[in-house]
Amino acid sequence: MTQIKNINGITKDNCSCGDWLNHWNNFTHKPAVFCAEIRCTQMFGLAGAFVQEIMDDTNWYVVPLCEKHQVATEELTLINNITLVSSEREETCGE
Ligand SMILES: [Zn+2]
Ligand SMILES: [Zn+2]
Repeated sequence: MTQIKNINGITKDNCSCGDWLNHWNNFTHKPAVFCAEIRCTQMFGLAGAFVQEIMDDTNWYVVPLCEKHQVATEELTLINNITLVSSEREETCGE
């Protein structure tokens, strides 16, 4: 299981993917359908949220989260096998 926390209140300019949900979709090659929180089945209002892994406090990742979980301040558990896509453009889409 993957435990993450939101990086609230910080936004990065959109990358060349258009927005951060597209960024995630582009690198997982399967579009996000549900919020990545383990018990959440919300399909609407998803956005690519910036998160950090609890075990790894340095790297920033993007995962699809619903409007409620985008602003959650508690630690979140994500669904199994969720792909954490790096938010570093140099490592991903290159811009
Ligand atoms: Zn991108
Ligand atoms: Zn959710």
